Amino acid sequence: MRIGILTIGNELMNGRTADTNSSFIAREINLQGWHIEIMMSVGDDFDKIKTHLHYLLTFTDAVICTGGLGPTADDITTAAVAKAFDLPLYTDEKVLAYLKEIFVRFNLHWTENNAKQALFPQSAEVIPNPVGTAAGFVLPVQEKLVFVIPGVPSETNRMLPEGVIPILRRYFPQLVQHTFKQTVKTFGLSEAAVDERLARVNFDALGVSVGFYPVFPENHLVLIARSDSQEQAQKNLQKALDEVTARLKDYTFSYGEQTLEEIIAAALTEKKLTLAVAESCTGGLIANRLTDVPGSSVYFERGLVTYSNDAKIQLLGVPAEIIHQHGAVSEETARLMAEGVRGNAKTALGLSSTGIAGPTGGTKEKPVGTVYVALADGAQTICRHYAYRWDRKRNKLVSSEAALFLLKNYLQGKV
Ligand code: AMP
Ligand code: MG
Repeated sequence: MRIGILTIGNELMNGRTADTNSSFIAREINLQGWHIEIMMSVGDDFDKIKTHLHYLLTFTDAVICTGGLGPTADDITTAAVAKAFDLPLYTDEKVLAYLKEIFVRFNLHWTENNAKQALFPQSAEVIPNPVGTAAGFVLPVQEKLVFVIPGVPSETNRMLPEGVIPILRRYFPQLVQHTFKQTVKTFGLSEAAVDERLARVNFDALGVSVGFYPVFPENHLVLIARSDSQEQAQKNLQKALDEVTARLKDYTFSYGEQTLEEIIAAALTEKKLTLAVAESCTGGLIANRLTDVPGSSVYFERGLVTYSNDAKIQLLGVPAEIIHQHGAVSEETARLMAEGVRGNAKTALGLSSTGIAGPTGGTKEKPVGTVYVALADGAQTICRHYAYRWDRKRNKLVSSEAALFLLKNYLQGKV
């Protein structure tokens, strides 16, 4: 099935709003095994909406439009679509009653322009809006479908999967395939390295497509298996996942949407372990990420940002001589930071980071991007050294990831 997207709004034309609806719709449509033939954007202009809609329909089976369904005078999409097919508008009494009820419920003053949101082109089917006042619609024309839904992304995000896709499946049942999707998250390999490791897997033969989604500093893969048979699609996805796992090994950390910090949260909770963090180059990022998970107070005791030498000496008990001898950015300091914060906080584990985020502060021996992370558990202290090459923000982010990855591996018995 060939599908077109037409996003409508002056704010798209003047660059005030980025067209995120198109990419969202395209992703969802591709997941169904269907194909986006073309995407276009136009301003809130009567004639342009008409002209471009006709153009898109010449080589697509369905066009999905977003935007311009509001109550104000500049929202003209419904009228323009009706005009494009010479259809009169009708008032849907159910939608009108619903709108009036909302105004009463939220104590809003009803003005007549709101009745506009109950107008639809003749022969259109209403698509309810579960999160807003503007209903959408689908208009069957010449064996094809024109969908119109609101431009507000939170509304598009609900109405596409809940309204549009079920209607497409109903109108084109012969094109419905069974689809299974799995995300695989990796850290520690570049996109090119992941690609190279997977180069010899014949995903095509399995009917599986693989998408690469770098989400710095992680690389995510999305595997989608499609088949006419549900069982076959499921089996093929599993085979593809096995191949991926065999080749990417411990660089993978999540099969699904779980984040690194959520995986750590589950492991710390299950093992009843507590954690304290001493951060230098990550400036609190590690603590921030750990506390993004609800319920983190169960295992997260404290986080210190010990940025200066004095802070490392006073708050963590790192001996001044060690810092003078080896430097604040050194394996010795990283180890003592982890041990120090663990001792003070009386936690099971202490985690630390120290590094040079840049762009200044690098030397020949320790260039920008030099990072040490350490984990102390009382019996042993594990330290890792990394040489990154990013800008300041990304050096900080990747350093927090490296520390969390070390912690995750430790909790999974992999170090
Ligand atoms: P509208 O439905 O045209 O009244 O748009 C309502 C809101 O959604 C406005 O704040 C727009 O900036 C936003 N919006 C409209 N179209 C898009 C789009 N294609 N992508 C992202 N946001 C949009
Ligand atoms: Mg608009």
